[in-house]
Formats: sequence, structure tokens, C-alpha cells
Amino acid sequence: MHHRKLVALAGAAFLFVVAPAAGASSAANPRVVADRVAHGLVHAKGGGAVHFARRTANMTYHGGKILPTAVTKAIFWGPSWANSTFVGDKITGLDSWYTGTSGSNYAKTVDEYTGTNGQVGATATHQGHIIDTSTATGGGNTTAILNEVAKQVTAGNIVLDPAGNSYIPVYVDVKRGNAGYCAWHTSGTIGGNVVQFAFFFNLDGDPGCDPGDTTTGHSQGLAALANVTAHELSEARSDPASPGAWYDSSGAENGDKCAWTFHVPAVSFSNGTQWKLQGEWSNAAYSAGIGYPNSSGQKGCLDGH
Ligand SMILES: [Zn+2]
Repeated sequence: MHHRKLVALAGAAFLFVVAPAAGASSAANPRVVADRVAHGLVHAKGGGAVHFARRTANMTYHGGKILPTAVTKAIFWGPSWANSTFVGDKITGLDSWYTGTSGSNYAKTVDEYTGTNGQVGATATHQGHIIDTSTATGGGNTTAILNEVAKQVTAGNIVLDPAGNSYIPVYVDVKRGNAGYCAWHTSGTIGGNVVQFAFFFNLDGDPGCDPGDTTTGHSQGLAALANVTAHELSEARSDPASPGAWYDSSGAENGDKCAWTFHVPAVSFSNGTQWKLQGEWSNAAYSAGIGYPNSSGQKGCLDGH
């Protein structure tokens, strides 16, 4: 399924080509294998724009698994996460986000999708977070991010779900710079266990990845991370690599197809928190003509509000 990721990236000015994973395996360093190419990227606004007009609008099924549930534990990586001014409301806010997404109407926008292992479900289990103040990397190498996840597994800070539903988002303190994306998700294996994982730049003061939240009271940096967090988790649930499950003829997943389109100022989560979030593509809503339009005017986006 790697070819589809390359198609998805063809319009962008970057590729994720990583070195083959090291074959060394020991108790201290479990074998780590990352997908060679990151997918599910959130392109920065105005960069790597994806055009849908000539495509079949709905996504099709490609034979793989989905996530019937998600077991999440966040990693905040980089020395700035020891700085309370930098941290601000981001760590507590994202813990609230992951807790509150479980059972929310927003999460239910992904529930229509099925795979070889059943149907996507709206419940998730959030296990909190880890702070690692060692120097973080950017997002250009999926193996570097998977190695950080593996480091936390080895340290006993993360216990991977044996059913393969672990989803580990890695939030670094590194700014995006010239990268054309805000975040991505992909999968790998650690010691033989499949893990979904995702990467997020520090989006403080980054207009290219900013949803423009003016109503919830969250800091700009938290609001920006929350929006792309919604994009990546929704994609991982409907299209966990690999092999892939639900994406369209150009490789766009449910988050990609509604990226940077917002229907309401904020959606409410099951724990009462409020977030400005992009919608997620629903084949059912598009077919019924009841979604709100994406950036190409296709009415297949839902936010569960
Ligand atoms: Zn995406």
C-alpha cells in the first residue's frame, strides 16, 4: 500500500523517505519497524493543496483493519516541555481532549467504517501522558519518532495494547519551519506489536496550521494542536496502516478530505470541553447529501455538533 502514500504526497514539495529500520534486536532495543513513508499528513494551509474536483468523492475500502477502539497515551518530547510558560495549557488541554473525545458525537463521525476486524467505535481509553525532556527531532523521519515511542515502551512507560489498538501521539517542541505539513500519522511495530503513532510540530504562532479558534478560550497553540489531533486520530481509526482501509482514489483519508473546513465555532466533547475542529469525511453523509462542504464544495463533512 506504500504506492498510495506516494500518490498522496506527489503534489507536495516533500517526501518521507526513511532509512530501512535497523535490524538489531535486543531486550534493551526491541526491533522497531516503521512504515517507510508517513501518511495522513495535515498539509499546512496553502501548501501541498489537494484538489478533489476530478476524483470520485467517496472513499473506498482497501482490505485492511480499522481501529474498533483506541488506547492513547501522549508523549511530549523536547526540553521545552519542562518550561511552564511553553507548556501553558497544552498538556492539560490535550489530556482533556483525548479523554473527552471518547463517546463524543465528533468521534462518532468515523463509526460508519468497517474493516477485517470489525467496525470503528467511538470509545477510546486515554492513559495520560509522558514528558521526555531530551532533545526532540522534527517529523522528517518516521523511524526517529517510532524510536521515541519504543524508548518509552522499553522504559515501561507505555504498555502496548496486544490487540493493536495503541495510538501514541508524539508532540515535539520543534517548530515547523519550512515543512509543508503540520502533523502526520503512520504505524509500525515494536517488539512484534503493531502500534499506531503520530507526529505533531509545535504550532505556537504558526499561521499555516492555525484553525483560528476565537471562542473556546484555549491558547492558540493548544487550539492548533487540538485541530490536527482530531484529523490524525480520525484517520488512524478509519485507515490505520498497514494495509490501508478507507481512502479515496488519490489516497486522501477522511481527515484530508475535510481539512481546514469548519462548520461551527466549537464542538462539545463528552467531558464538556469545547474545541474548534475540522470535520471528517463521511461517505454516508455525502451520499445522502447531508454533510457540510469541504474545500471543493463536496458535502461530505461531519463534525457531530
Ligand atoms: Zn491526513
